[in-house]
Amino acid sequence: MLFFGHVGITLGAGTLLAGLAGSAKDSPRARVSWWGSLAGYVDIRFLMFGSLLPDIVDKPIGHFIFRDTFNNGRIFAHTLLFFLLLSAAGFFLYRRRHSVWMLTLAAGTLAHLALDAMWYIPATLFWPLMGFEFEKIDLESWLPGLLQALVSDPVVFAGEMVGLAVVLWLGLVLFRRKKIGVFIRSGKMS
Ligand SMILES: [Zn+2]
Repeated sequence: MLFFGHVGITLGAGTLLAGLAGSAKDSPRARVSWWGSLAGYVDIRFLMFGSLLPDIVDKPIGHFIFRDTFNNGRIFAHTLLFFLLLSAAGFFLYRRRHSVWMLTLAAGTLAHLALDAMWYIPATLFWPLMGFEFEKIDLESWLPGLLQALVSDPVVFAGEMVGLAVVLWLGLVLFRRKKIGVFIRSGKMS
């Protein structure tokens, strides 16, 4: 999945879960908007950041800084170990300070691993259980391959379109409420 697929589908799934949890909990009169439900549980900015975090960490390392070593943009932060470490730190923070931002990052990261279908690369997903080496890929054809997949693979195309629609939906809600600045600064929607 590419940028909008990761951000938008993660937001959409989070909104759906929060909306369902909110509907089950609240009386019909007390129901808030779907986005309001999600914002009531987590800081949406951290969920968006977490949905991209594995690429934000791995792409610079594997594509540029240590390109000769790794030749791959899916390394440490695309492992289950990375998610588990984030989750452990998140639970620690939650117990100490009742803060959920790190757990939110972990949830976004888990969604990223799922949308990247990392189970097809088990040596990376379960690193280092199956060996310390990450597989090397042909980085020269990586970007052309992504763009090719966008126009020729209906799953990738649909994922990006759905993701873009969700991001636009959030943007429109914030715009209509005149809360874009507030959201960027604080993560709040009202
Ligand atoms: Zn990725």
